[in-house]
Amino acid sequence: MIENVSDKNFFFQFSEAMKKFNDQKIVKIFTSGSFLDKTEISEKLQEKICETLGKKTKKVIVESRPEFVNKEKIKKLSKLCNIEIAVGLESANDDVLKYSINKGFRLKDYIKAAEIIKNICSLKTYILLKPPFLTEEEGIKDAINTARIAGKYSSAISFNPVNIQSNTFTEFLWRRNEYRTPWLWSVIEVLKESKKLTNARLMSSPTGGGTRRGAHNCGKCDKKILGAIQDFSLTQNPSVFDNLYCECKEEWLDLLEIEGFMQTCHS
Ligand SMILES: [Zn+2]
Repeated sequence: MIENVSDKNFFFQFSEAMKKFNDQKIVKIFTSGSFLDKTEISEKLQEKICETLGKKTKKVIVESRPEFVNKEKIKKLSKLCNIEIAVGLESANDDVLKYSINKGFRLKDYIKAAEIIKNICSLKTYILLKPPFLTEEEGIKDAINTARIAGKYSSAISFNPVNIQSNTFTEFLWRRNEYRTPWLWSVIEVLKESKKLTNARLMSSPTGGGTRRGAHNCGKCDKKILGAIQDFSLTQNPSVFDNLYCECKEEWLDLLEIEGFMQTCHS
């Protein structure tokens, strides 16, 4: 029934994972690439997986690049299970997509896919906070602007602050002190401002948060701030950010101002 090697391999992994299935309400399928890419997982297997999970769980989240989003296919899958498609837009700025992230698609490609998904099932969008070559303030503005656009199509938006992974270009810049991972104050700013612009559910769960390789503050307040970000992600109530203070907030505010000034001098 399953013909090709990639399918056999994937189905084996899926079957193994299903042994651990314990009536979870939401199942997220992690693939290295796109679940909807039929060269990775054949359409027959995509359907089989959705059908299997559709009987067992309330929601199935799969990730896909925009180019694999096809109306007929999504219609078919959404009949088999309650599917949510997660797309990593990262930034709505084509220059950032091209030069900072090398994403290989443009905003218009995301919008085309997002319009299809929105009319059939739910869309979750991932946004990157502070890709390389952006200052802290540019990173904040870019993430908010991206949320403003993605918010028109998405039922949920997840902000991923950049974290430093081994053997990446970002790590190279970071080692040369030419890149700092975003401040947690910036994550808060993005969540608060984006909330004013969209009804999408907003969340952030910073990978490596509070460490030098992840989004971090001064070290003293990180735990408290990460707790507030988690509270917000659950409650959507921006008042969880009220009365949060640490002296490093001044340093962060100064940085935004100084970087802005340096940019003006360069241009
Ligand atoms: Zn602090």
